[in-house]
Amino acid sequence: MIETALAFVFGLLIGSFVNVCVYRWTRDLSVVRPRSSCPACGTMIAWYDNVPVLSFALLRGRCRHCRAGISWRYPAIELLTALSFAAAVYRLGLSLAAVRLAILSAICIGLIATDLMERLLPDKFTIGGTAIGIVLACLDPLTPLFPYPGFDSPRWMGLVEALLGAALPSLAMWVLGKLFYRVRKREGLGLGDVKMIAMTGAFLGLKGALLTLVIGSTGGALIGVIYIWIARKSAATYEIPFGVFLGIAAITAAWFGDPLTNWYWGIGT
Ligand SMILES: [Zn+2]
Repeated sequence: MIETALAFVFGLLIGSFVNVCVYRWTRDLSVVRPRSSCPACGTMIAWYDNVPVLSFALLRGRCRHCRAGISWRYPAIELLTALSFAAAVYRLGLSLAAVRLAILSAICIGLIATDLMERLLPDKFTIGGTAIGIVLACLDPLTPLFPYPGFDSPRWMGLVEALLGAALPSLAMWVLGKLFYRVRKREGLGLGDVKMIAMTGAFLGLKGALLTLVIGSTGGALIGVIYIWIARKSAATYEIPFGVFLGIAAITAAWFGDPLTNWYWGIGT
């Protein structure tokens, strides 16, 4: 129980860092320097006004100096990240598997935010995340989709699963994107989406990445069509934030992947 509470607090801090990344990586700024300041008046934010969630509540969502509104995005990202960390540790204990689940969730939360706000999926999240996923696969082997011939140890097999997961679904998506461009003469899929699937595959392996693609594209197509219809947007020009759907799909695959695939293949859970 104490581990879950500590994971929640640690998740708040990571969520606060995700906020900095979301803000600065969409503007090509460094996340290391300078210290955070109010975007409206430029005043440096004191440490006591930078406590995750709590400061936002105490300041009632306004800058202490100029009273400019602070986006509710900040406490929302902090809370969601904290909940992901707490839930990962609650479910898996203090383990590498929990670390994998928590970090993937935090990266997806960041990418959902940048895609919603700016229609951007920064490389530092996607390519950086792919590297983190592969390192984690070396430390804590993934369960392979198939018993890959020639790799007898679980460690090698898990690494192959992560590498194939990073390479194959993203390659398939890239080829589909090219074909779409040939046929429709406009960009259907961004390179950011392709890199995001590679990141998911590095964390979840081939099975997880394929599941993410299926859930993300089905959800994106369905909700996209409904949104275009309700909001009376033009289907020819409206750009669906596909990264948002991939992010939600990756989190779903990470948390519920095994029951979902077992149900799909007709295997009892
Ligand atoms: Zn201000």
